[in-house]
Amino acid sequence: MFQSQLFPKTQKIPPKSADSINHKLLVRAGFIDQLMTGSFTLLPLGFRVVTKINNLIREELDAIGGQEMLMPLLHPKSIWNESGRWEKAKEVMFQFKDNHGKEYALSFTHEEVVMDLIRKHIKSYKDLPLSVYHFSTKFRNEKRARSGIIRGREFMMNDLYSAHVSEEDMLNYYFKVVEAYKKIFKRLGFVIKVTEASGGVFTQNNTHEFQVLSENGEDTIFYCDKCDWGQNKEIFAGSAGDSCPKCKKGEVIKANSIEVGNTFPLGTWYADRMKVFYADERGMKKPVSFASYGIGSTRVLGALVEVSHDDKGIIWFPQVSPFDVHLIDLSGDSMDDKRANEIYSRLFDDGIDVLYDDRQLSAGEKLADADLIGIPFRLVVSLQTGDKIEVKKRNEDETQLLSYDELLKMLSG
Ligand code: ATP
Ligand code: MG
Repeated sequence: MFQSQLFPKTQKIPPKSADSINHKLLVRAGFIDQLMTGSFTLLPLGFRVVTKINNLIREELDAIGGQEMLMPLLHPKSIWNESGRWEKAKEVMFQFKDNHGKEYALSFTHEEVVMDLIRKHIKSYKDLPLSVYHFSTKFRNEKRARSGIIRGREFMMNDLYSAHVSEEDMLNYYFKVVEAYKKIFKRLGFVIKVTEASGGVFTQNNTHEFQVLSENGEDTIFYCDKCDWGQNKEIFAGSAGDSCPKCKKGEVIKANSIEVGNTFPLGTWYADRMKVFYADERGMKKPVSFASYGIGSTRVLGALVEVSHDDKGIIWFPQVSPFDVHLIDLSGDSMDDKRANEIYSRLFDDGIDVLYDDRQLSAGEKLADADLIGIPFRLVVSLQTGDKIEVKKRNEDETQLLSYDELLKMLSG
């Protein structure tokens, strides 16, 4: 991709409304644009990152038998009345009427819709278990939409739903998903704390939140510095400094965090209300046991910036970077850009995704943009580099001069 054609250009000044690092940097670097509070466009760079995040999630969910589909975002009031959530969840739902006075809501989650699908299409125990997911926009009437793209009123979520013949089978699969989530967040580059939270009205079971430690995070969690114990502040009865209630050896640490995922072992709460049954081996009607799971892909985009940046800009982890390398031509007017062009096409042929700064700008401006955008490898070609390429990692200060083959080896290593 030629940077001269990339939409839009970077900005020196962050928007006045931006109160968080991710908002400032993502807007300045040209990844997102705010239409209004809590509502963002994913610009080409931002869309590339979210696509990578989603593909990584997709791989791990497919590996545990998830089937991808796509559900509608416009829901009739009747489906929400079946669970009672039209009234109970009124605060977060965008509800409205059509021309005929009929009432609808914009999707804020999909449990009811999935339950309706199961009710229509699952007949017997032979049709279970089932695991389906989608990626879609969610709408929530958030009271305080802040923290940039981390808390939107319209945002992208991956939500997975699983249905089972029994609580036991559900819990069995549920913990498989918990492991898959840990893998997803590790692959994304996060250090994750899994914290228990209350199941609320839905279930006796605890739910699990996947929390990224972050100074500016809106959540407060408690976790053990030695084992995997963790709870959110709503259910933890002790205080920081206590000895760990699980391993007894560690100390309880209190920290700010960003919730990037949440899993809910719901049981038969929905089946009981929406009359979702299957026939068991003896033909007896039994309620379907259910669980739901969600990851906020656009919140992940914001959280990645919160945990990986410096005063110059974003520092992408390679697996989610919008491009593999940032090639910068600093040969200026004094020399033609033949050499940079040649390296660009060789990298392209070798399957490396390149952002190529072919613009007629000063070295200072180009390098500042590279730091702001944050691609993990910066490749400079100039009069000084001869037939070599100056390579610098975004998170290190040293540069090294490499031949093309050495560079390729480093990128594939
Ligand atoms: P929060 O407590 O942060 O408001 P939640 O617990 O209400 O979130 P869930 O219903 O658990 O959210 O949604 C699953 C996931 O969707 C969350 O873990 C988060 O990653 C993402 N998410 C939820 N609300 C938002 C939002 N307003 N903007 C962006 N992502 C969100
Ligand atoms: Mg949650």
